[in-house]
Amino acid sequence: MNHFPVFLALEGRRVLVAGGGDAAVAKLRLLLKTTARITVVTKSPAPEIAAWAAYGRLTLIRRAQEPGDALCCVIAYGAHEDAALDARTLRLASADGALVNIVDNLEASQFITPAIVDRDPVVVAIGTEGAAPVLARKIKAELEASLPAQLGLLARIGKGFRRAADALPMGAVRRRFWAAYYDQAGPRAAEAGEDAIRATLDDLLKTHLAAETRPGHVDLVGAGPGDPELLTLKARNALDRADVVIHDRLVAPAILELARREAIIIDAGKEGFGPSTPQEDINALLVRHGLDGNHVVRLKSGDPTVFGRLDEEIEALDAVGLSWTIVPGITAASAAVAGIGQSLTKRGRNGAVRFLTGHDMKGFADQDWTALARPDAVAAIYMGKRAARWMQGRLMMHGAAPATPVTIVENASRPDQAIHAATLGTLPDSLSDVGGPAVLLHGLAPRAAAHAIETREIAL
Ligand code: SAH
Repeated sequence: MNHFPVFLALEGRRVLVAGGGDAAVAKLRLLLKTTARITVVTKSPAPEIAAWAAYGRLTLIRRAQEPGDALCCVIAYGAHEDAALDARTLRLASADGALVNIVDNLEASQFITPAIVDRDPVVVAIGTEGAAPVLARKIKAELEASLPAQLGLLARIGKGFRRAADALPMGAVRRRFWAAYYDQAGPRAAEAGEDAIRATLDDLLKTHLAAETRPGHVDLVGAGPGDPELLTLKARNALDRADVVIHDRLVAPAILELARREAIIIDAGKEGFGPSTPQEDINALLVRHGLDGNHVVRLKSGDPTVFGRLDEEIEALDAVGLSWTIVPGITAASAAVAGIGQSLTKRGRNGAVRFLTGHDMKGFADQDWTALARPDAVAAIYMGKRAARWMQGRLMMHGAAPATPVTIVENASRPDQAIHAATLGTLPDSLSDVGGPAVLLHGLAPRAAAHAIETREIAL
């Protein structure tokens, strides 16, 4: 972006236009919409310019530009349609301290004037840095057609009503009031004129003041392992009603698509906070949006109660008296074990299953290695990639066989799901190509392989 768009305050400030032909008239038509004090300097003004001067809408100086004409001007236009005269304007007006635009000469100009769609005070500026004027015209035409003609009127009356609307509590309640005005009530009333718009605003404010201010609420929702079809109906309903969705890095984009169209989506994994958002910042976000009166959905991958730091968030909500609900989800281990056609428990094999984390607050997480090293032990290991070599060492030290199956399920339930059959002995090496989130299923082999092993054992 070589040109930075700004809206220049022109009220009571001076603008100079040097030149009196068609180009000057075209610029003046735009400038006359503003509250600037306009001076035109030209030996031969077009009749329109003379007429505007006669009506007192601008000051006309009938001579060539001289040094000092652009003193105290914020901007000046060279509109002679003559390269030499415009170059002189650039020199003189710059020396006077004004920013200069030469009409239809991007290179010589210190600023450019965008195409505008005018619904004053709502103004849309469109610029292409000279690259595609045709495109700018097309965008302008589309916006002209799509922005209602009364938008300016609604915004002007709305602006005058801001102080009255301050009676509503700041935040979501006030936002809902303005949304109702601009989306529906305002445009409907605009057809009946300005008085109707004002009356509508009064009524709308009364209704919103009378409506019991909705207390905020936070749903702590499990988003499942990634496949949107593995969302619970409750999770979908919560997303449907959400004002704000605060989600983890692992929550799949396809699931975020299901959130209410108007919902504010906050990526608490990255956005604005660097590589990972500190837990205190996430707590603060939940509290702020909740206290604002919003229905907040805290969307966590898998099940929110499994390695999700859920209790810290609940404590933060309790501390400010915000209500909350937990909506369980399908945890990664369930999706992973489904992916390899096995079950987490099996009669005669294992009557218990452990969910382990590879690392905790202190580093690699210590576990009951003796129990895990038993031949029939089954465990789903989360966040285990970095800790794999260390865990392998602990397990083998406690007597686990190197041939114990460990299946790595990467991106469980997602289109790019990958299954890597390994053993405790080969584990760290088998993980070297695993880039996505993965669960290590200790004690379980993919069903086909398990079948093959059993058959081989029988044959032997
Ligand atoms: N609450 C989540 C776990 C969060 S901890 C749940 O119940 O699933 C993050 C870890 O979960 C990752 O490091 C990875 O081990 C695991 N994980 C999350 N989604 C996964 C997926 N789709 N496939 C495999 N593992 C996943």
